[in-house]
Amino acid sequence: MQAAPPTPMDHAARLPRLRDSLEREGLPGLVVAGLANIRYLTGFTGSAGLLFVLRDKALLLTDGRYSTQAEEQLGGLDVDIEIGLSAAERTRLGRRIVEGSRVGRLGLEAAHVTWAAQQDFAREWFPQVELIPAVGLVEGLRMSKDPGEIDRIARAAAVADAALAEARALLAGGLTEAELALALDTAMRRLGADGPAFDTIVAAGTNAAEPHHRPSHRSIGEGEPVVLDFGAAVDGYRSDMTRTVWVGDLATPELRRAVAVVAESQAAGVAAVADGVAGAEVDRACRAVIAAAGWGDRFVHGTGHGVGLDIHEAPSVAATSTDTLHRGHVVTVEPGVYLPGVGGVRIEDTVVVTEAGCRPLTMTPKDL
Ligand code: ZN
Ligand code: ZN
Repeated sequence: MQAAPPTPMDHAARLPRLRDSLEREGLPGLVVAGLANIRYLTGFTGSAGLLFVLRDKALLLTDGRYSTQAEEQLGGLDVDIEIGLSAAERTRLGRRIVEGSRVGRLGLEAAHVTWAAQQDFAREWFPQVELIPAVGLVEGLRMSKDPGEIDRIARAAAVADAALAEARALLAGGLTEAELALALDTAMRRLGADGPAFDTIVAAGTNAAEPHHRPSHRSIGEGEPVVLDFGAAVDGYRSDMTRTVWVGDLATPELRRAVAVVAESQAAGVAAVADGVAGAEVDRACRAVIAAAGWGDRFVHGTGHGVGLDIHEAPSVAATSTDTLHRGHVVTVEPGVYLPGVGGVRIEDTVVVTEAGCRPLTMTPKDL
């Protein structure tokens, strides 16, 4: 939807950084099994594949559906491509790649293989090497977004802003939650999104007391809080935004107070975000405002999460987080108050961490 061409992606810079991480871990190689990790490292968007990253070579092993696509997407990168048409052929190819590399140990992305796959890798693919469960190596690199990635997340956020500006006009028309969710999703696609970043949440009235309510066929009435939590995906990168809106005046003073408290909490959280600040510290900033209002036990989830190729990724912005925020991280700040039988309020922005603070990427005003 933005006229300027997207900032080019710098895939070529990523494999050397992964090799540095492998060096630090004492791993001579890594089998990357997570599809978002493969996409991050190579740009490959197929739904199946394994990326072998060794000291002196990298190789994508995928199947016959993706031979043309892999050639196109990996063009210019120093990554070889092998196509295995059958499972047996892929096993043979994988085994040959690792035998040829002469490594004795091989990292395997533990969070991205099933137990069955691990057994298969250990017995059939790589019986000759020691498989080491590797966790979070590529995800650690993905925390810091480069300009190409930030540009795409900003575009996804702009699409969501524009979709809400359109869909707002429908709010007073007595639509159901599901109809409003569909209107948002359709607008995002029309405005250039790959699709929604995740299943759009529209929660009206007492349903708004459930943080992850599924849109139902309940009509939206006047004076009810309506929690809209949605985002777009653009070129694989996601945005995440929540606004709480209503038609007419909010029905009860308690809900009006909840809106004011959550807005203040969310602003305090955004103000706390900066390079070098702990994720837990941002959570504390949000929680302190809500606790002071007497609703500490009604803020029932963490404050936020990283956003990128996945809708939930590192770093974590929660009380239990051990992550520190750094320049180039993209995170959400999304406190909420949930009052069973009454309703709920959540406000969320996606922000990019800067040296001195942060820059919001979701721009829709909060005083809708
Ligand atoms: Zn959200
Ligand atoms: Zn979120």
